[in-house]
Amino acid sequence: MPQAARAARITALEVLDVRFPTSEHLDGSDAMNPEPDYSAAYVVLRTDAPDGLEGHALAFTTGRGNDVQAAAISALTPYVVGRDLTELCSDLGGFARELVHDPQLRWLGPEKGVIHMATGAVVNAAWDLAAKRAGKPVWRLLADMSPEELVAQVDFRWLSDALTPQEALTLLRQAEPGRADRLAALTANGYPAYATTPGWLGYSDEKLARLAREAVADGFTQIKLKVGASLDDDVRRLRVARAAVGPDVRIAVDANQRWDVAEAIDWMRRLAPYEPYWIEEPTSPDDILGHARVRAAVAPIKVATGEHVANRVVFKQLLQAGAIDIVQIDSARVGGVNENIAILLLAAKFEVPVCPHAGGVGLCEMVQHLSMFDYVAVSGTVRDRVIEYVDHLHEHFVAPVRVRNGRYLAPAAPGLSAQMHAASLKEYAYPDGPVWIARARESRRRPQSGDVRIT
Ligand SMILES: [Mg+2]
Repeated sequence: MPQAARAARITALEVLDVRFPTSEHLDGSDAMNPEPDYSAAYVVLRTDAPDGLEGHALAFTTGRGNDVQAAAISALTPYVVGRDLTELCSDLGGFARELVHDPQLRWLGPEKGVIHMATGAVVNAAWDLAAKRAGKPVWRLLADMSPEELVAQVDFRWLSDALTPQEALTLLRQAEPGRADRLAALTANGYPAYATTPGWLGYSDEKLARLAREAVADGFTQIKLKVGASLDDDVRRLRVARAAVGPDVRIAVDANQRWDVAEAIDWMRRLAPYEPYWIEEPTSPDDILGHARVRAAVAPIKVATGEHVANRVVFKQLLQAGAIDIVQIDSARVGGVNENIAILLLAAKFEVPVCPHAGGVGLCEMVQHLSMFDYVAVSGTVRDRVIEYVDHLHEHFVAPVRVRNGRYLAPAAPGLSAQMHAASLKEYAYPDGPVWIARARESRRRPQSGDVRIT
């Protein structure tokens, strides 16, 4: 057969282990993750198509988890390599459903944890590739799809007691009339963001106050503080932050799962005088009834969760149980773009705002596409909706997020914005990249202090 007539195929699924030594400066420190090294189990899909385009995406971990995460992604290689490229890109819903049904890997989930994050990374890389081939950013590719095409992206198994395909279709059709106006508004004004940069637990009060004031000066109307390590410290830090930003800026607090249910309620009552806007991850992400109890007890403080919610089923129950006020989708926790469309539809059905989790490595870059799509084609609103923004590690990305005056500008580059510079992938490769070789040499020279770095 002549070369030109052969259909293009995926020829390789490459997995790279990329780690940033962020624990050095306590960036990203919280009550449960005192020393994270922000990391990416990074996926590249290569093809033999003449356009030379590649699909890039990643699963985020905080260091050693990358060993396990990278192995899980590699286990999905047989589902990807050899696939017809046109068929793959025209049925990403079918692809996403196939990946979660491997008869042997499925035992590790189903559809939760490391293996599901691996699915998410591979599915997201396929969306990056499909969007690049279409010449559109992912948000626009989605926003240009018909309601029928969007419904076909979703796996409704285990959802239909809360959301049927017909209901999803109705929701999407209801949002159709305003799509063009919202697309124009999004392109002109961007999408609201909030700033987590001021609030890491390892920062001093002075640094917290300075960064909080800077965030407000930069146009943010909401900031977030990490809490949960020490009640006295949290009361003081929240007082400092409230004094720095004044009464009109929303201050969210985030316990990163630190508490039991009763403790969460007691702790939040002590913080209530400083009017926190939401409490994020007060307890285990699996504890649906616990979240419902916290929510009932701490109102009008809102309850938010999602960055560790394993899949659409847990989100479904959180919504059915009236356990949360804010749905925090994460681009790299669940099974990729497709499952996040399901979660956006569930949130729209229950009329709960979606305020995505971001930060980490590349999470801002990827998740902005989902919120922007939601605005144009699903919920149709940005009211009470903000995407988390952390000003950190964006310089490693080919098309980094652009945040101006407290808003994410809509990405214009084709794809999912997850592609990192080749030089960064090389420099921070673990354990053999120059950054890690230098650190290993340094730590052999330095006596071990054994100090605890969190304060
Ligand atoms: Mg959080």
